[in-house]
Amino acid sequence: MSGIGKGITVASTARILKDYGFRVSCVKIDPYLNVDAGTMNPTEHGEVFVTHDGMECDQDIGNYERFLDQDIPRTNYMTQGQVYLSVIQRERALAYGGKCVEPYPHILEEVQGRLERAAQESDAEFMLVEIGGTVGEHQNALFLEAARLMKLQAPDRVFFMLVSYFPIPAMLGEMKTKPTQNAVRQMQAVGIQPDIIIARSSVPLDRPRKEKVSVFCNVTPADIISAPDIKSIYDVPMNFEKDHLGRRILEKSGLRPRHHLSPAWRSMVRRMHSAHLPVRVGIVGKYFGTGDFTLSDSYLSVIEAVKHAAWKAGRRPQIEWLNAQQYEKDSSRVRELQRFDAVIVPGGFGSRGVEGKIAAIQFCREHGVPFLGLCYGMQLATIEFARNVARLKGAHTTEVDRRTKHPVVSTMTEQVANIQGGTMGGSMRLGAYTCKLAADSVSAHAYGGGTISERHRHRYEFNNGYRDRLAAHGLRIAGVNPERDLVEIIELPGHPFFVGTQFHPELQSRPLSPHPLFVGLIRAACARAEKR
Ligand code: GLN
Repeated sequence: MSGIGKGITVASTARILKDYGFRVSCVKIDPYLNVDAGTMNPTEHGEVFVTHDGMECDQDIGNYERFLDQDIPRTNYMTQGQVYLSVIQRERALAYGGKCVEPYPHILEEVQGRLERAAQESDAEFMLVEIGGTVGEHQNALFLEAARLMKLQAPDRVFFMLVSYFPIPAMLGEMKTKPTQNAVRQMQAVGIQPDIIIARSSVPLDRPRKEKVSVFCNVTPADIISAPDIKSIYDVPMNFEKDHLGRRILEKSGLRPRHHLSPAWRSMVRRMHSAHLPVRVGIVGKYFGTGDFTLSDSYLSVIEAVKHAAWKAGRRPQIEWLNAQQYEKDSSRVRELQRFDAVIVPGGFGSRGVEGKIAAIQFCREHGVPFLGLCYGMQLATIEFARNVARLKGAHTTEVDRRTKHPVVSTMTEQVANIQGGTMGGSMRLGAYTCKLAADSVSAHAYGGGTISERHRHRYEFNNGYRDRLAAHGLRIAGVNPERDLVEIIELPGHPFFVGTQFHPELQSRPLSPHPLFVGLIRAACARAEKR
């Protein structure tokens, strides 16, 4: 079933193999027909993650990057939409030489071709492929079929892991293995025998159950790996190792560990568990759980980035959700921000909640609350400054008010055609761009100076026509994209920490290397907490 942690299982397994000295990468396959995740609302699908090379993809790619501490390229994200689109485009170009184009073999060949290209691109010795959805449903049937054929072609190089749930019904108090037996039968019905079963449950599997599952599912007990509920996702690799998952995979592949498990991950996890003193961070958002996904899914990378930086500072992150629309209904409520050690206004789109976010930013600016604005958060900080400090009445972004007298945030020139022509999918400013930091800025200090590279996802931009006017009122332009002279970072000198970034630093934060700007924010937050 969905939501039992396939993504974390893949990411953790990859981490273990990397720690044993192998080159590893991961692929996510999503069965939906969207070409990428960029056209879905975060409340439908969760956060849209962006790779360095500009693919808008599923949040699992973010999990892979965080666990592996390495970049995952766009080739490693596949949707059914992409697969069909390329086959149909090829058919339109007569590339099939007059043949009848069918799911079998053409779609299957496309899937396999994409997996092979991904493995080459990543130069991986182990490629972990996560097939989204549930075994037995129609949505992912073609991907399972492609996987079966790959096993047929390379039996000793392709292995299958099933992540399955073992419920303990409250009225019985006993763990049930039947759903897993059925899942395995479903897999066998499509010609796939799992080599390893990851047993998700609230507790580890006991010996008798492992033996029972072994007999019914045709998997040796040693290949049934307990995956009990745990406090943090970052505990999972070490938990898998209790059942020797890494060694089992290596043995099956005829390989030995190249070196011992690296201690870096363990010490990060130890630091995480020993952090007790809290640091309170408020996130002012609007994607409050209306669909299948909750708020924490919508802002996943932001939350993780806060955690990584807090653990580095030896603090326990205490994150609270603040609904921007509440501040619009009752503006006196922004005063609650006083209670926080730091406030983040993350990315977003459209007009809902915008005035509430602007009110929150104003409060942070005027009351010295450490503030980090991410993408839309930076654009709205610019608007707030223009309105309330530079006295540009009615200043706005053209995203919300097309006829504003002061478009301090406006469309990038090349985006006008996209917006008017309705070519919205995959057409934002996406992926990594360089940014030159201004000497003596808070950002230069945090990064250690120089030129940085950060990931983007936006259609609107700081309007350079207002740059001098806002700077004259004290706004510091702390980072600029040198190729196109685009403003990437704004700051407020004299404030304990007030930074807005046009890019999304959260996408590059990892537990083993927390992001410098989040580290800077948390440092300022700790200083504020201590003063109280
Ligand atoms: N809506 C804004 C834009 O398109 C900000 C996007 C974002 O926050 N990711 O530019």
